[in-house]
Amino acid sequence: VGEWICFSAIATPQAQVSVQLGDKILPLLPQPQTTKLPSNAAVLTNLNQADSQDKTGYYRGCQQFKQEANLGKPIFTAQLNNRSITQQGQGEINIISDQNLPVIEIIVPEGVARTGPGSDYSRLTPLPQGTKARVTGKEGDWLRLDYGGWILERETRLIANEVLDNANIRGLSSRSINQATEIIFPLSHPVPIAVAQEDDKFILTLYNTIAQTDTIFLVDNPLVRRLDWRQINPTTIEYTFNLNQKQQWGYSLRYQGTNLILTLRHPPEKSDNLQGKVILLDPGHGGKETGAVGPTGYTEKEINLLMSKLIKQELEKLGATVYLTRETDIDLSLPARVEMINNLQPTLAISVHYNALPDDGDALNTQGIGIFWYHPQAADLSVFLHDYLTKNLNRPSYGVFWNNLALTRPYSSPSLLLELGFMSNPQEFEWITDTQAQKQLA
Ligand SMILES: [Zn+2]
Repeated sequence: VGEWICFSAIATPQAQVSVQLGDKILPLLPQPQTTKLPSNAAVLTNLNQADSQDKTGYYRGCQQFKQEANLGKPIFTAQLNNRSITQQGQGEINIISDQNLPVIEIIVPEGVARTGPGSDYSRLTPLPQGTKARVTGKEGDWLRLDYGGWILERETRLIANEVLDNANIRGLSSRSINQATEIIFPLSHPVPIAVAQEDDKFILTLYNTIAQTDTIFLVDNPLVRRLDWRQINPTTIEYTFNLNQKQQWGYSLRYQGTNLILTLRHPPEKSDNLQGKVILLDPGHGGKETGAVGPTGYTEKEINLLMSKLIKQELEKLGATVYLTRETDIDLSLPARVEMINNLQPTLAISVHYNALPDDGDALNTQGIGIFWYHPQAADLSVFLHDYLTKNLNRPSYGVFWNNLALTRPYSSPSLLLELGFMSNPQEFEWITDTQAQKQLA
């Protein structure tokens, strides 16, 4: 109730266009311009400008509804020179009251929250299993939750008869466990959350929560210097963990009953070598998935595995314990690779790939080392590796990208993805197939 709902239609220029909702008729007005947004991949070819065009035949109108109502399917009408055509919209429109909103619970380990109803919309912090929220809207298979995020209905279950109010939180405690600090947030029910990492801060936001906190105990630990919190609006609390250093080493969040448990991993011990450090290398693709294919038919899955094994040898010489997600040419799903990172919680997780030409790309001029990260805790290492490889090996630079990828999204360890050159570039393909150049790169 009270929200703007917008309708649009494409029809003949100069037509009179309207939409009927129940007994209400809403005119849709001709729009002077339409804007075409670029695909996300257009960033890779530098063609990512939004494109506004004067265009006729596009109509739009918005309306607020003041009462709960089932308006049925909207019926669009276009009229021109005494002729009219009508067309029924696909969806049914229900105006729901903000009283007695349905309550859902997240039933998957990580509910994928997004900024809108569809996978074109960006990801927000995943919601831990057990999170409860009110449903304030629905579009297709997507539910809008009370804190603003959208989630697929199948990742939730409806809790009949539950009436949900804001949660309360009391005093916080913490303890050291196994190279990490665990902080316990005692809530009256599990609420939606968000995480932000800054240079020397880890920020946790709890939505739908009102503080009743008087005491906080922060255990002596090497990571967190101080924990601050504030109620930033009547129903949102922000916790800022001020850290002793910029580099963060992974975290996890889970609900245990109604307690939120945040685990912040401690930095690994500094030493002259990599003794005691665990590195997980993920050779990309495998089995039926060949990845990119070079001019001779040599596949990315083969060079990814070969390079991962060479890198493993080099890291082991420096004392590291190294695991590979696959040691042979097998099919391995992205979720299985992610699960290995989360189970092993290595010091670093690195996915090894070679690049293919993006759509609209130029094979001769598209080249170089590309590195991809998603969480700030993987950014500095990405820049370091990019600079080191391009300078010391005199390799061309493709660049460092923030990128939403299955193998950059894990956050239990700093996780990044290497694209060590282009299979489609003739010069780079020579390096890719040259034993000496492979060793040098490793
Ligand atoms: Zn690949």
